[in-house]
Amino acid sequence: MATTSFTKKSLGLETTEPAVTPPPASTTTTSFTKKPKLGAAKSKKREIPEGLWTKCPKCSTMVFDKELDENLKVCPRCQYHFPIVARERIHSLVETCTFEEMNADITSVDILKFTGVASYTNKLADYQKSTGLKDAVITGLCKIGEHRAALGVMDFTFLGGSMGSVVGEKLTRLIEKATEKGLPVIIISTSGGARMYEGMFSLMQMAKTCGALAYHAQAKLPYISVLTHPTTAGVMASYASVGDLIIAEPGAMIGFAGPRVIKDTTQAELPPGFQTAEFLLDHGLIDAIVSRKDMKQQLTEYLSFMTEARKAAVAG
Ligand SMILES: [Zn+2]
Repeated sequence: MATTSFTKKSLGLETTEPAVTPPPASTTTTSFTKKPKLGAAKSKKREIPEGLWTKCPKCSTMVFDKELDENLKVCPRCQYHFPIVARERIHSLVETCTFEEMNADITSVDILKFTGVASYTNKLADYQKSTGLKDAVITGLCKIGEHRAALGVMDFTFLGGSMGSVVGEKLTRLIEKATEKGLPVIIISTSGGARMYEGMFSLMQMAKTCGALAYHAQAKLPYISVLTHPTTAGVMASYASVGDLIIAEPGAMIGFAGPRVIKDTTQAELPPGFQTAEFLLDHGLIDAIVSRKDMKQQLTEYLSFMTEARKAAVAG
């Protein structure tokens, strides 16, 4: 009974409320404009500032960007390897101040006058501006541990790490320099394949780079190919897969054609983990999986081992 009477009372109050004379219009406006302003200021304070945290796509942990950088862009919780640009990669591998960049200013020519959604010339200019690179690879001579080496590092942020005439030419010159100086070659790949904007000129780079590697091999010099996520198509079908030693980062996608194309062509169910570094290690295509944090140490050890082996081969 008491509850019913209370409800009735409150209902009664509600109905009488609209009858109250509203305050003057000007006062209402002021109070309304003031309130949202205060609210907006409060919500801004609560927001997490952008660019300080990154969500790991594998384990969904929010990782502090500074921590991620210190950890070479590897998730500290699940070891997911985030993409890394070429300059950061070089910095993580070579001894301080030993990297002498080669052919830094070679740029592509839009020989086919290719025009799609945007012209190739415009695309090149845009990517050069956004990445600060001239093309998708940085090459140079350096020191890793106590070893002098020729190092080429691809960058996926420049047109998907695609291999055009500049990537092919810079790597070829690097390999030829290594052959001339008797140095090992290390190429760290990440690529979507040949650069279609350059048509046949990009496909020719596959043969050119492999030709230079053949001369390097004849001189009994070691070549280590490092495959990072993703390494596919024309790059995988040429220099990336002909290393004396082929190593990969954990979880890297490695292959020639994409899984959908293979599935459609073969009409077969693809096995789980198909085209991952782990799957390819099990099936013998690659020799080892090395995490980014161990990469420098491992490369140094491999170089020590292979250089000793070369000395023995040359002496023998
Ligand atoms: Zn993670």
